[in-house]
Amino acid sequence: TAVSYDPDNIFAKILRGEIPCNKVFENEHALAFHDINPQAPVHVLVIPKGEYVSPEDFTARASDAEIAGFMRAVGETARQLGLTANGYRLLANHGPDSRQEVAHLHVHITGGRDLGRLLE
Ligand code: 5GP
Repeated sequence: TAVSYDPDNIFAKILRGEIPCNKVFENEHALAFHDINPQAPVHVLVIPKGEYVSPEDFTARASDAEIAGFMRAVGETARQLGLTANGYRLLANHGPDSRQEVAHLHVHITGGRDLGRLLE
């Protein structure tokens, strides 16, 4: 089934340069920038540059190079943010049960404090 991607979502506008972002890292296939409403001392979003809504959409349609570039961006961003020693959390929401707000695939990187347990 084809996934419908809304080209007017806020991250698409960031990718087109129509609205600004506070960039942390960029490569050919991904962009990382600070979340506008941080939930931790460090809260960064990593997005693929292609039009993908969810992890399953991404892994079904993206090329191996795009998938590799995106995951490398996640790792490089965590490293650049200085999170390697104390650690961090990766989280991706998809769909209504997760309350996903922006329908462009994104991974949250949070850190800079004890994050507590994810499932409690
Ligand atoms: P979701 O709930 O979809 O997983 O997360 C969307 C995230 O995008 C939220 O953490 C929200 O704060 C962030 N966000 C929404 N609009 C903007 C924006 O215009 N700029 C930035 N940098 N982050 C945004």
